[in-house]
Amino acid sequence: MPGIAENLRTVSTRIEAAGRKCGRHHNAVRLLAVSKTWPAAAVREAHAAGQVAFGENYVQEAIDKMAELGDLPIEWHFIGPIQSNKTRLIANHFAWVHSVDRLKIAQRLSEQRDVHLPPLRICLQVNVSGEESKSGVAPDELPALAQAVAALPRIELAGLMCIPEPGPDEARLRGRFRQLVELRDDLRAMTGLPLDMLSMGMSDDLELAIEEGSTMVRVGSAIFGTRVRQAV
Ligand SMILES: *Cc1c(COP(=O)(O)O)cnc(C)c1O
Repeated sequence: MPGIAENLRTVSTRIEAAGRKCGRHHNAVRLLAVSKTWPAAAVREAHAAGQVAFGENYVQEAIDKMAELGDLPIEWHFIGPIQSNKTRLIANHFAWVHSVDRLKIAQRLSEQRDVHLPPLRICLQVNVSGEESKSGVAPDELPALAQAVAALPRIELAGLMCIPEPGPDEARLRGRFRQLVELRDDLRAMTGLPLDMLSMGMSDDLELAIEEGSTMVRVGSAIFGTRVRQAV
């Protein structure tokens, strides 16, 4: 079994190859290592191999890991569903939140973000898959949400995120990624914000996402292995 450091090299090679194929700059795409369900020791190992940004889906699990890894300068990203009773913890333990899809959650994150911390960087999660998916803002509701979120004081609206339904149909998946890029371009024109962050692509589809314009791929199993249990 290859170890975490070797897996990270393999994933970096995949990212570089996909970027080269479509003529993108070699560091136009960042890697977020998704460490949900994996222990702090695995995160430490990945960090020692040069990985800086880590993504977590479950608040308490993430905070327990942060406590064990307080000596490391890790950039923590929250990427899971957000319950309103968890916003204070999320607002103050993470640098980024990728999964905001309601104004109420964004308002709470803004109100609760410590004034001594830099603004919390967020992505709006968009439901590009239609009916099948319950999370993410509907594309036609995105402009109003983005306008309202961009006006909040302790938040920086940095871009968009999507989790298309998985499946073998490559054209369909590409279409979902392309839709997120188009929504971002429209919002950019409307708000004047750079909205540079396009959080899309995972272990199985990162090449497609990069070819369509992803700026951050969220990769779990290709780095840490197949998850064998649900997170706590
Ligand atoms: C788990 C997860 C990932 C990583 O998925 P892999 O298929 O293991 O790479 C990416 N994004 C989100 C939102 C996730 O929950």
